[in-house]
Amino acid sequence: MTERFPFVACAYARALAESSDAFRRQLEPDVRELEDDEELGPDPFDEEGEASGCFGLKQRFPDRVLVMTSNACFMNCRHCTRKGLLRHAEVVRSDEELAACAAYVQEHPLVRDVLLSGGDPLVLPDAEVMRFVRAFAALPQVDVVRLCTRAPCVNPARVTRDLAALLGRCGKVWVNTQFNHPDELTPAAAEACTNLVRAGLPVSCQTVLLAGVNDSADVLLDLFRALQRARVRPYYVFQCDPVAGISHFRVPLERAVEIERECAARIGGLGLPRFVADVPGADRKIPLAELEV
Ligand SMILES: *Cc1c(COP(=O)(O)O)cnc(C)c1O
Repeated sequence: MTERFPFVACAYARALAESSDAFRRQLEPDVRELEDDEELGPDPFDEEGEASGCFGLKQRFPDRVLVMTSNACFMNCRHCTRKGLLRHAEVVRSDEELAACAAYVQEHPLVRDVLLSGGDPLVLPDAEVMRFVRAFAALPQVDVVRLCTRAPCVNPARVTRDLAALLGRCGKVWVNTQFNHPDELTPAAAEACTNLVRAGLPVSCQTVLLAGVNDSADVLLDLFRALQRARVRPYYVFQCDPVAGISHFRVPLERAVEIERECAARIGGLGLPRFVADVPGADRKIPLAELEV
């Protein structure tokens, strides 16, 4: 199984898994990954075949693009939407490839939000991260450079004050991270978030709804409150994507909508993320309530 879906976890993630069952389930390989629905492929969003024509850059929406900056992570999440793709992903490395991505953005004047994703961009050294950030932040049409990283959760020591200061000085960087369970908001993780916020970076969280990890309103509300204490804005709760190898994590839609309703009744708007699904071919992330049958 780890031949198909490799096991990767840094020392911090392995230690956290020792103390938290909810986190361990996101890191430990499970035989059910191989028993998955045959109809599901590795790439429902056609990220590999995406016709931007620009190496390592994906565009699905008019105003924002995603740039693949790395194909490695501090930890391979078992529920990863790119778990079957990452090793073969088109990763932007050379100055020429990066310049071609910046040129693509300039040729598409509606684009104002550039997501730096992967993999995790923060597996790269600071200077490399800043090479990507500056290439897009330098374009007047770009209002937001979104750093998509799970480092605050899975390797918080990576989020140093120095890095936060570099990112903050740029003026356009927003950080999107992923916490799925309140156990993950350790003092070290909270400090990583604080470093970012103090440097002037808006920090948001994309949680994935995972059976056996966080599929209850009580757990999610504890998570949202802990995020707010760390001044992280809960942004999305994602229904698991239709990707091979993660079906055992999927929460039935009816149950997910029920959990959302209960959360909405018990926390104020600033603590309540949007519950959505990424539907292949859709023009936006779709609210779960709209999918209800
Ligand atoms: C999800 C996604 C985005 C970001 O969408 P938001 O709803 O703005 O968070 C951008 N590009 C691609 C290809 C995506 O899949």
